[in-house]
Amino acid sequence: MHEISVLHKAVDLAEQTAADNGITRISYITLEIGELSGYLPVFFEKYFPVVTENRPVFDGCELRMVMARGEGLCRECGAMYNIMANEGKCPKCGSRYKKILGGQQFLLKEIGYE
Ligand SMILES: [Zn+2]
Repeated sequence: MHEISVLHKAVDLAEQTAADNGITRISYITLEIGELSGYLPVFFEKYFPVVTENRPVFDGCELRMVMARGEGLCRECGAMYNIMANEGKCPKCGSRYKKILGGQQFLLKEIGYE
């Protein structure tokens, strides 16, 4: 269960950024979660109220999440494909030999405020 610790870091970063910029209330934060990161959005939803508890800057703050696709480039035939949807195998030639182009990230993408 690594979600709670990375969420903690993202919330700390948002709080620090708000403090640095004189923002007193954050209306939403957006997390970007790679499909291949292994993190499950359902846990972020569950832990967000816990992690932001007793932190007034997050009063009424909405948690938004965008998923980043896990893209692979086949090293055998050059096809680009979605790794999750194809279970890691190139849909064209069946090879598992690939370069991963994205989808492993976890980041705080945006902080919204009024
Ligand atoms: Zn291929």
